[in-house]
Amino acid sequence: MKEVDALVIGGGFYGCHIALGLAELGFRRIRLIEREPSIMLRASYVNQARVHNGYHYPRSLPTGISSRRNFGRFVEEHAYAVLHDVEMVYGIARNSRVTGSQFARFCAEIGAPCRENMRAMTELFDPALVESCFSVTEIAFDSSALARDLLSRLDAAGVECRFGVSGRVAQWDDNSVLVETTDEPVQAHYVFNCTYAYLDDIGVRVRNKVKKELAEIALIQPPREMAGRAVTMMDGPFFSSMPFPAQSCYSLTHVRYTPHTSWTDAGDEALQFSGSRAQTMIRDAIRYMPCMRASTYLGSLYELKAILVKSEDSDSRPIVFEQSADTDRIYSVLGSKIDNIYDVLTYLKQKQWPLP
Ligand SMILES: Cc1cc2nc3c(=O)[nH]c(=O)nc-3n(C[C@H](O)[C@H](O)[C@H](O)COP(=O)(O)OP(=O)(O)OC[C@H]3O[C@@H](n4cnc5c(N)ncnc54)[C@H](O)[C@@H]3O)c2cc1C
Repeated sequence: MKEVDALVIGGGFYGCHIALGLAELGFRRIRLIEREPSIMLRASYVNQARVHNGYHYPRSLPTGISSRRNFGRFVEEHAYAVLHDVEMVYGIARNSRVTGSQFARFCAEIGAPCRENMRAMTELFDPALVESCFSVTEIAFDSSALARDLLSRLDAAGVECRFGVSGRVAQWDDNSVLVETTDEPVQAHYVFNCTYAYLDDIGVRVRNKVKKELAEIALIQPPREMAGRAVTMMDGPFFSSMPFPAQSCYSLTHVRYTPHTSWTDAGDEALQFSGSRAQTMIRDAIRYMPCMRASTYLGSLYELKAILVKSEDSDSRPIVFEQSADTDRIYSVLGSKIDNIYDVLTYLKQKQWPLP
């Protein structure tokens, strides 16, 4: 039986940062288990790679403001892993829920840079379907670069990482938690459940109900008009095409076609797959951006997206940092946007973590 101060289950961006945060707080024996062959291979890899800066939420001022809060800090601290020389273009569709002037006003209200871009409008969009076009300050991150940096920081902090190891909470008492793993049983003073879409599937009761959604991200080689650019079509059932630096290509996602099935039961048994929708995404994008006809489809990535049921009808995507109802030794953490990591670290630092 291995004894540790803290066991982190799940080596995504959130689990890795929590392990590092605990090391900073003075925890000595920290183990992180990840059932994939390395860290950052699930949602922290298969995502749109957007460091949000508020623009996505033109119908919710508070969400826009809170989304901007962490942008500068994240970009500064991860300069090695973000693409700086990409022009981020937001097109406003004629059937959008906001008009171009409402979008520009919203950007001014949240203090986010935004300028009308006539050149991109002419080069990229069909004016019959797109009303206006803006250049904004938003950025893509390279999750492989984040993973390399995290691996070396975990090593330097003395966090013991075990890959290809799955864990399940078996029992607990006032002082510790027993976790059965596919490696060896672990007795931990604290357990951090950072398993995202599997939050409710590792033997811990979670009060915040989570909806799981199978998401498809199409990977494409973009047309030459898109070189050095990323495009987001606002505001409604439209699409985005962003650099996907980890595979030196672009992603294409669609509000209507990226989400496949969804369910709220634990685990992924309810997952049903009825084939890729990439061609439908591309066809719809071509209507607004005729140049997309010259894009090449490379393949699709699929991942489970975890959405808090209580906030699914709003734009807000808060993180969850939940102490178990059964014991103060187990905490479940649901990651949200990548740059929301700072909110979790704040929670971690606000609490006392007595160790024997
Ligand atoms: C399709 C999609 C698009 C997104 N786009 C963006 C975006 O553009 N910008 C943004 O900021 N955010 C985006 N997100 C959200 C962001 O990717 C996630 O919020 C974030 O990566 C969550 O990190 P995590 O560490 O909580 O989860 P994960 O990275 O999924 O890590 C959880 C880990 O737990 C492991 N695990 C699960 N169960 C066990 C077990 N029993 N034992 C051991 N290990 C286990 C898994 O293998 C996994 O590696 C997107 C998410 C998705 C799915």
